[in-house]
Amino acid sequence: MARLGEYLPNRPTVLIGAHLDHIGISTKTTDSIYNGANDNASGSTAVLQIAKVLSKYQWDQNIVVALFAAEERGLLGAKHLADRFKQEQVNLQLMFNFEMIGKTLTTGANQVYMTGFKLSNLPALMNQHTPNFVTFLPEAEGYNLFKRSDNYAFYNAFGVPCHTLSSFDFKNYDYYHKAEDEAGIMDVNNMNQIIRTATYSIGQVLRTKANVVMTD
Ligand SMILES: [Zn+2]
Repeated sequence: MARLGEYLPNRPTVLIGAHLDHIGISTKTTDSIYNGANDNASGSTAVLQIAKVLSKYQWDQNIVVALFAAEERGLLGAKHLADRFKQEQVNLQLMFNFEMIGKTLTTGANQVYMTGFKLSNLPALMNQHTPNFVTFLPEAEGYNLFKRSDNYAFYNAFGVPCHTLSSFDFKNYDYYHKAEDEAGIMDVNNMNQIIRTATYSIGQVLRTKANVVMTD
């Protein structure tokens, strides 16, 4: 076991991330600032909260926590870090990415869907510890969301399970990429539940050193 905060190159590395950027400022709307509460202050909050809990324990993996820049411009921050991981020969085993968890899934509270659901055994492994937490969203497959967030940069570089967890299902939020994406309309209680459940689920996958593999 390593000391807290210590990076050991021979250990597997697990990355937990979310993008911090949003669209920015527009001159075309009355409210010119796009706050990006759901997309993606919610995901960034999850990453920080999960890191806070995980940092209290010892792990057999290196856990890297990252908040990415320039996702909205084409996953630029994530691509940069993926390249750097490659250069530094980081042994990336797994990545959890958080996107838009501020609204409750139409199918129920305290649930997320995972992009690339059928591509690895990660959903099944997480659901062993937190039953029904990770779900399949047909639209996520239809729109190929697996390739449209930061997880994809790492999958592309390493070919290991890298997935996005989200609760934006195209029916539960009208303000995706709109100036009205504001903090006051988030489902904060549900968001907290999701963060707590995700923390436990991820912690159990890491603690049991689950064999997370691509299945497709
Ligand atoms: Zn986003």
